[in-house]
Parts: sequence; C-alpha cells; structure tokens
Amino acid sequence: MPEHEPEARIKQIAIVYAMEAEGTPLAERLTLNDAVELHQGLPARVRGGRVGETEVFLVFNGRDPVHGVDRIGLEHAAVTTWALLEKIKPQFLVNAGTCGGFLSRGASIGTTYLAGGDYLIHDHRIPLPGFDALGVSRIPAGRYPAIEERLGLSTGPVSSGSSLDATEGERRFFEKEGVVAKDMEAAAIARVADDLQIPLLTMKAVTDLVDHPEPAQDAFLRNLRSTTSQLTDHMERLVRWIGEGVTHADLSG
Ligand code: SAH
Repeated sequence: MPEHEPEARIKQIAIVYAMEAEGTPLAERLTLNDAVELHQGLPARVRGGRVGETEVFLVFNGRDPVHGVDRIGLEHAAVTTWALLEKIKPQFLVNAGTCGGFLSRGASIGTTYLAGGDYLIHDHRIPLPGFDALGVSRIPAGRYPAIEERLGLSTGPVSSGSSLDATEGERRFFEKEGVVAKDMEAAAIARVADDLQIPLLTMKAVTDLVDHPEPAQDAFLRNLRSTTSQLTDHMERLVRWIGEGVTHADLSG
C-alpha cells in the first residue's frame, strides 16, 4: 500500500526541535538512543528508538560550532528538515517547540497550540509584485482533528521570523492574521515538508507573551523549563498513541 493511503500505518515518525532543551525531556521519557550525526558536516543530531509499533527519530538542529549555542532559526530549520527528509522518509513529521503567545488570544504561559490556518512569515518585507506574497509564505497547515481532540489543544496560524522580539508592524500583522504562535522555525519546516509531500503537524507551547510589556527573552528564560514540561506531556501522549499502530485515517479522525 502506498505510504499516504488512508489505511497505511505510521511506521516512522520524525520530530524536529530547534533547541536541545526543548526536546531532551521527550527523548529521555521515550528512552531513545544517544544522539548521532544526522548528516556529514552539519551539527544536526538525531536520537532514535522504537515506541510500540513506530520508529521514532527525534532531531535537533545542533549546536553552532563557532557560537556554542543551538542553531535556532529558519535557515537552520530548513537545512535540517531537508537533510532529515532526504535520509528518512517518515510518514509523519512533527515540529515541536516553544513560541511567543498572545494574551489577546487567551494564551498564558504553557498554553500549547497546534498549527491551523496558515504558516506565515512576518519579517520578510519584499514590496515587489509576487515576491511580497512569496515572503509571507502562507502555507496551509495540515489539520488532524483526531489529534486536536485527543490532546484537547486549540489551533491557529503560526508565524515565523528571525527575531525574538517584534516590531510594531509585525504586531499589526499578528493581529490582522489572528496569529496564535510566534516562533522561529515552523514556516521553514512547512516549506520543505510541503514540497516533499510529507504530512506535518506543528505543536508550540508558550514561553512568553508577545503582547505583554516584559521583554520576551526574560520570560523565555524563566519559563523554558516549565513550558517544556507541558509540551513534553502532550508530545508523549501523541507519540505513544501513534505507537499503538495508528493509520493516516486515524490521525485525521
Ligand atoms: N536566549 C535563548 C534563545 C531562544 S530563542 C537561549 O538560547 O536560551 C527562542 C526559541 O524559542 C526559538 O527556537 C523559537 O522558535 C522559540 N520562541 C519562543 N518564544 C519566541 C518568541 N517570542 N518569538 C520567536 N520565537 C520564539
């Protein structure tokens, strides 16, 4: 049976995290193997293992050898996702991580969202016909009602960019588009997954509030651990359920 037939099982799932701190708790809970290189020359690392019926690959962008910190951001996310999907053709890809949330949309620290609506990019400003739209990206998010219901998570547009803070223009964009999660990777991962026709789910948990006066970096550092723990609870439930032997049709409900 072809991989994307509704009744085909999810035999392999890959999960991409930007930061080691975000993904390590899940790797430990699932007792995945130690990290190995994903692709020669890249710092990206993968931890693998089996959960029930499913093979799990948990991938990090890795640490930049010059700057000594995780390679967060769109360009690294795109390269990692490309290398991953060239090497492993999972039936299901998940981008999990943290994000900025919005008080105006009812978020608080730890609120966890699934992507719905479109994947957007908020800081590509290209005022040329056609290229303006390319810059914003606007890739429709795959929806998985069964997962939304099972985990009890709400959905909305996820917008990605290269900065942790936000300009006034970006804030207007978030309001206009009803963005629920601001991050630095999802739209790049969605681009590659969409091109290569790999079903993608994005799960983002709020570490900081974009429409709150406290600087994002202060809230991020204070809340990273507690938010990651909530993210990990949802991710563990998802992966263990998929490990029971679900099909594409089961995911869509
Ligand atoms: N100083 C931090 C850097 C984290 S950057 C450190 O190294 O510890 C933020 C990361 O979390 C990115 O991978 C991004 O996807 C996500 N993120 C969390 N809050 C965000 C926000 N308000 N805006 C953009 N990205 C955010």
